[in-house]
Amino acid sequence: MTETCDLLVAGAGPAGLAHAFWRRRARPDLRVLVAEAAPRAGGWVRTVMRDGWTCEAGPQGFRPNADSDALLDALELRDEVVPAAAAAKRRWVVQDGRLVALPAGPLQLLTTPLFRFRDLLRLVREPWVPRGGTPDESMSAFLSRRFGPATRPLAEAMAHGIFAGDADRLEMRSMFPMAVECEERHGSVLRGLRRRPRPNPRPPRRPVLCSLRGGMERSIRALAEALGESVLLGAPVQRVRREGEGYLVDLGGSRPRRFLAREVALAIPAHAAAGVVAGLDATLAEELRGIRAASVVSVYVGAPRDAFAAPLDGFGFLAPKHPSPLLGVLMTGALFPEHAPAGHMLLRAMSGGAEHPDEAERSDAELLGQARHWLGEYLGMRGQPSFVHVERTRNAIAQYESGHAARLARIAARTAALPGLRLLGASYRQVSVVGQWAEQGSHP
Ligand SMILES: Cc1cc2nc3c(=O)[nH]c(=O)nc-3n(C[C@H](O)[C@H](O)[C@H](O)COP(=O)(O)OP(=O)(O)OC[C@H]3O[C@@H](n4cnc5c(N)ncnc54)[C@H](O)[C@@H]3O)c2cc1C
Repeated sequence: MTETCDLLVAGAGPAGLAHAFWRRRARPDLRVLVAEAAPRAGGWVRTVMRDGWTCEAGPQGFRPNADSDALLDALELRDEVVPAAAAAKRRWVVQDGRLVALPAGPLQLLTTPLFRFRDLLRLVREPWVPRGGTPDESMSAFLSRRFGPATRPLAEAMAHGIFAGDADRLEMRSMFPMAVECEERHGSVLRGLRRRPRPNPRPPRRPVLCSLRGGMERSIRALAEALGESVLLGAPVQRVRREGEGYLVDLGGSRPRRFLAREVALAIPAHAAAGVVAGLDATLAEELRGIRAASVVSVYVGAPRDAFAAPLDGFGFLAPKHPSPLLGVLMTGALFPEHAPAGHMLLRAMSGGAEHPDEAERSDAELLGQARHWLGEYLGMRGQPSFVHVERTRNAIAQYESGHAARLARIAARTAALPGLRLLGASYRQVSVVGQWAEQGSHP
């Protein structure tokens, strides 16, 4: 039997739930359904709370902006927002086997060991560097060309921190479109940033990171509650076919169903969407298959605060490219003190990423041993941890690699020929969770 609906959303991650929520809010008369393959909603957003410790499998938090304000207001969650501690501004990067503080302002550039004097001279020459580069230029190539080769370790650390990716493969235009635009329009990143129109009066400074009381999963519970029975769990979308003006959508799972939907939104990772649309448009499926995703391992280690020789009052540290698979360590117990019992610190060591794809296949014991080694080496951790927890997120973070922007343009051209079909989610633009909360979502 074929059932009908106005909009069928595949995937109950942040993108799918937020899209269904906004569409239903705009048109309560529409029959909107969300089909999720897993037995729970949320995608990578999952909070584990155990014995007074709070661990996030995916996003540690969100960077507040107008989109997060809009969604959290609509869900009546604004009072549940927990800003990260002010110390979150302090960050470090690994250099020659030790932690070096990232400069917090231009004056600290003069004293940081990250740059020699001649590197600084090269850095400030950026406005006079001629335009250049290719449209698909990598992040490391762009930053080296404009600011000098000494920026390479920072580019690598940033690529690790945001995308668990490889700075030599990630595309600058897709990661930081504003920087590329500044070069194109003003001939310089620094000049472009200076000339940006500034709102007057200046809005108050926002925290760099926020979470929610009860962890990030609180946002998922609120969205799922608002959507109620419209969310079908354990219902993987298997394929989508054209049928008249709409689409026939086959759901698998223990209770296979078929829907005729006027509109379909695939808010699932690109590699999963490729399988779903293979029969509809093989070229589109091939393009989607080309968007890779990296796996990340998070090892949480909790211990009394006095077990660490280093001060733990910041965001955490990032590691540039290295033979070891370390991406960085988040000081989650410093960011959100309520995530650890009183007098204790919780750290999240993250490893793997695009350069170490097999990391998630290693045993818990190996991963834990490795994390403890890093925490000893960089933060002077001594003794046994009071708490450990391991999370593996496989094929989780889309890689906007060189050619990504051009690929998105080709994908947009294919979907333009499929009216009513939309691709959403972090595979395309805006890798952050807030990017998925936006009313318009993130799509090619
Ligand atoms: C380790 C890690 C740390 C992160 N840290 C941060 C952070 O600190 N801040 C931040 O802003 N972002 C962070 N992110 C990114 C954030 O998690 C993503 O932006 C967000 O989860 C993307 O949402 P999505 O809905 O596009 O995809 P997903 O979260 O991947 O959800 C997709 C959903 O689709 C479902 N699905 C797949 N195939 C099918 C199918 N055939 N049919 C039906 N359903 C299907 C999946 O089960 C899943 O529920 C992090 C991600 C990871 C993995």
